[in-house]
Amino acid sequence: MTDASQSAVSARLADRTRSLERSKIRVMFGLAEREDRDLVRLEVGEPDFGTPDHVIDAAAEAARGGATHYTENAGIPPLREAIADTMARESGVEVAPEQVTVKNGAMEALSLAMMALAGPGDEVVVPTPAWPNYVNQVQLAGATPVTVPLPAESGFDLDAERVTDQITDDTVAVILTSPSNPTGQVYDEEAVEAVAEAAAAHDAYVVADEVYGRLTYDREFRGAASYVEDAENVLTVDSCSKTYAMTGWRLGWLAGAEPVVDAVTSIGESTTACPSSVSQQAALAALTGPQEPVAEMKAAFEERRDFVVERVAEMPVVSCPRPEGAFYAFLDVSDLSGGSFEVAKRLLSEHGVVTAPGDGFGDAGEGYVRISFANSLDRIETGLDRIEEMARAER
Ligand code: PLP
Repeated sequence: MTDASQSAVSARLADRTRSLERSKIRVMFGLAEREDRDLVRLEVGEPDFGTPDHVIDAAAEAARGGATHYTENAGIPPLREAIADTMARESGVEVAPEQVTVKNGAMEALSLAMMALAGPGDEVVVPTPAWPNYVNQVQLAGATPVTVPLPAESGFDLDAERVTDQITDDTVAVILTSPSNPTGQVYDEEAVEAVAEAAAAHDAYVVADEVYGRLTYDREFRGAASYVEDAENVLTVDSCSKTYAMTGWRLGWLAGAEPVVDAVTSIGESTTACPSSVSQQAALAALTGPQEPVAEMKAAFEERRDFVVERVAEMPVVSCPRPEGAFYAFLDVSDLSGGSFEVAKRLLSEHGVVTAPGDGFGDAGEGYVRISFANSLDRIETGLDRIEEMARAER
């Protein structure tokens, strides 16, 4: 296709396609894929473990047994029950199975939640640095994202005052991600309470994205809906992706107020109807089967987290807040020359290590790069050696 005919086709696309910003994580991924040399890939946000064998076996058996058809839109009843049980057991959040809708990953649950809650004229508050998809999801729903930079001085912990200042009668939701991607910060519970209270006072929901909730290292994790007073205003989103190393199975859910859950289910009828029947069987096995694989992965991530924190502390110029959960460290590289994106590109081209530029997570992330420690200790060590090489060369 010529450039002219390509732009003629682009001009015919709907406006919403133009508002979407491309993820810088994917841009770095694309640049890395083009190189044919030994790169340390620390940009990717998924567990480096395989899905536990018993989960794969259960899914294969279920498929052979006929679980290959459409299911109820909200997911099969035993899975909704297993999700409700797991939420009560693991994060203290009490919901009935009818308050759970199963979707194709947390990603679809979040996207449909935005479509259910937000439209033109509505605002959704997103504290940043944050996973970039939220802003796109809000825009696709026709609403306006209101990003609120969190303070770097406190490791980007939730600053209730900054966030509540942005909640108005136009606000329909506040998205809180704890543990956070990209910082690994587990939000202060009192701050979450204060934000939930302010949201409730404006009839807005807190959407608590807790996909990393089972991966916390320094303290027990509690789901926001388990401790805030206005729990009926909290919608919990979670998935099997990070907890069970099941990113490719695309299985997640939204739980909370039934009218919202029902709206998400009914909008989902026009997108994918239901999640994959085989993946639902896999999720059922994951949630109800042995939990040792989760404990093993978590222990491995914790060991790597400790290693990263110690290793970065030895570096000149570069530093990072201590990640309390998830598998990311957010490295302050602001003393190196150029913005985050330039630093990330130089790290790749001159030092062979791939990172995610911090400004891809909102303006608050400028001056940082995210590394994922979902990689072997050996590779993480090599990657950090290369980052130090650049820090020493450029200081
Ligand atoms: N929420 C956050 C904060 C994430 O980091 C991710 C994936 O990276 C998701 C949601 C999407 O998870 P899923 O694979 O369940 O769609």
